[in-house]
Amino acid sequence: MRVLSIIAKEQLRLTEAPVPEPGPGQVRIRVAYVGICGSDLHYYFDGGIEGAPVREPLTPGHELSATVDLDPSGTWTAGTPVTVHPATLGTPIPALADKPHLWPNGAYLGSARTMPHTQGPPRTTCSTLLASVSSNARSSGMSGTTMPSQRPAAATRRA
Ligand SMILES: [Zn+2]
Repeated sequence: MRVLSIIAKEQLRLTEAPVPEPGPGQVRIRVAYVGICGSDLHYYFDGGIEGAPVREPLTPGHELSATVDLDPSGTWTAGTPVTVHPATLGTPIPALADKPHLWPNGAYLGSARTMPHTQGPPRTTCSTLLASVSSNARSSGMSGTTMPSQRPAAATRRA
């Protein structure tokens, strides 16, 4: 499959990569749409965002919808529409139990704030099912979490 990366200010690179296999608790999804966010534009036009320059190839994108491509558990049939939550939760803080988006060391898809960078979604990617992630458990894997949805969000079609 093809993977598009930002390698520097206004410089893109298209490479080939193997189709990923889902890990434990994950499904493989086919991306349908990805929104283009302000941070994506900064990564491309400025070579980074404040305090987070692109230091290695970065696949942008974090607002996406997709369909299930492969669920090894057999729970979700191929073609089930899903929405991807782009955050990987950080270290739980008991006082912030109801605000997991504020936990330290979290990450977002398509972000150069982490090193190695947290890659955005190529056309086919693997994601942890939200239903299998407890609210105070640290999620793992290369992507955010996926939840079934009724219809894809309106966004820009990813080439
Ligand atoms: Zn955004």
